[in-house]
Amino acid sequence: MAYVPGGNKDELKKADRQLATVIDLNKCLGCQTCSVACKNLWTKRPGTEHMRWANVTTYPGKGYPRDYEKKGGGFSNGEPQPGKIPSMIDSGDDFQFNHSEVYYEGKGQSVRLHPVSKVTGKDPDWGYNWDEDQGGGQWPNPFFFYLARMCNHCTKPACLEACPTGAIFKREKDGIVLIDQDRCKGHRHCVEACPYKAVYFNPVAEKSEKCILCFPRLDKGIANACNRQCPGRVRAFGYLDDRDSQVHKLVKKWKVALPLHPEYGTGPNVFYVPPMGARAFGADGEITDGSRIPLDVLEGLFGPDVGRVLDVLHTERENMKAGRGSELMDILISKKWTDRFGGFTNDPLTQS
Ligand code: SF4
Ligand code: SF4
Ligand code: SF4
Repeated sequence: MAYVPGGNKDELKKADRQLATVIDLNKCLGCQTCSVACKNLWTKRPGTEHMRWANVTTYPGKGYPRDYEKKGGGFSNGEPQPGKIPSMIDSGDDFQFNHSEVYYEGKGQSVRLHPVSKVTGKDPDWGYNWDEDQGGGQWPNPFFFYLARMCNHCTKPACLEACPTGAIFKREKDGIVLIDQDRCKGHRHCVEACPYKAVYFNPVAEKSEKCILCFPRLDKGIANACNRQCPGRVRAFGYLDDRDSQVHKLVKKWKVALPLHPEYGTGPNVFYVPPMGARAFGADGEITDGSRIPLDVLEGLFGPDVGRVLDVLHTERENMKAGRGSELMDILISKKWTDRFGGFTNDPLTQS
């Protein structure tokens, strides 16, 4: 069925194929290039400045938007759950800076360059990535890793189910979830309903917006910006049913890439290779063979399969070290960068 604005929900969420991203948390260095790649393309317009459709925060941490894991939405036993709308500060704020005051107003050293919350007009006490590099654990076994996120372009999108206007739809040919900006009335039920809080309100346009999976690029065979521009070579992209794609091999064949918070019930289509972590020190102060990242912490994010996945990663790494080779390690390494992108290998200079 073609997209019929406001059509019935079953039609709106139908997709023949599904694009997916795999994010390898062993490789992510928290550099935020993905965040800026997205922002410089899509969220510099008035009312979108606070939005980080691609975002990276330190885990353990409050995430983005702040405490999104406590703001409800999603499904429980198939039933939609109520949710809360994050504030602009939760959503990372949009710090303003006093360059003019510091450089041109003759105030000498009585003033300093500092951020000001766009919301309160005062010094901020929270903002995007505020808890960077804090993490968890106790010395000498602190632990953290970087968690990059975006809209999951879910198979059962809670945002779509929640919109009374029928403005949200899933692109049939590739499963991209989009908000029809002409139709959106800014009700924000989608914001409440998305358990990942991956929909953001634009207070200028009075409409909601979200990651568009860079569809104008994809339609020209160019990989999405946050994936292509990652210097950590962390990200793989492609159709889940394309048996030649890395995403298919990692999610379906090797089953080492897991969805974030599958218990939210939306069938997310961004998958994560969980972090192996550094080895822990034991109570005697000696190094052990175990990871310092507690398994239950990872299970809280990626479900009960994490232990099995970590075993596979360790085994395959040993195979590699022993000279036996490993298809899995070859994929995770990706000596040829463009192999990552499931055929979306056109140069971004390709114009429409
Ligand atoms: S992550 Fe949220 S916004 Fe994205 S498709 Fe799923 S429910 Fe909708
Ligand atoms: S896919 Fe494109 S729009 Fe979505 S988060 Fe990445 S860069 Fe932004
Ligand atoms: S660009 Fe890549 S390495 Fe950098 S934060 Fe994003 S996912 Fe991690």
